[in-house]
Amino acid sequence: MSATARKRLDAMAAKVKASGLKLTPQRLAIMRLLAESEDHPGADGIWRRLKRRFPGISQATVYRTVQLVKSLGEACEIAFADGGSRYDGRKPYPHPHIVCLACGRIIDPELRSLGDMTREAATASGFEIKTFRLDFFGTCPECSKNKTKTMPTRRIK
Ligand SMILES: [Zn+2]
Ligand SMILES: [Zn+2]
Repeated sequence: MSATARKRLDAMAAKVKASGLKLTPQRLAIMRLLAESEDHPGADGIWRRLKRRFPGISQATVYRTVQLVKSLGEACEIAFADGGSRYDGRKPYPHPHIVCLACGRIIDPELRSLGDMTREAATASGFEIKTFRLDFFGTCPECSKNKTKTMPTRRIK
């Protein structure tokens, strides 16, 4: 586990503990996946990754833990129109995402213009900007390469 992921896990664990919940091995494993996964897993994906190690773990437990970590401000949620959600516990603050419509991959682009865009939005509207949502959708390099094969648009999950 990297030092950054460890720091993220410690922050999550401290808040969950402060909220009065016990840090069970299952909850810790869920938080650890949130803290170190770069691929923005969904609750389902986390459950699938953990069910071998914790055969008794339920999807409801995973979902509730992920929602709790999110509500404590320690993970951000990328919600989709179809009701599915993916999570980022590495960066709990708002940041832009790029979503592949073919394989569901989600990455964090580094956008140098983000600060300018935020200032421009504030100036243009007179609003005091508190937060933002910015998602790009398209086809990732791997899926673009495989375009010749017919690829159904997958439900993002
Ligand atoms: Zn893709
Ligand atoms: Zn992210």
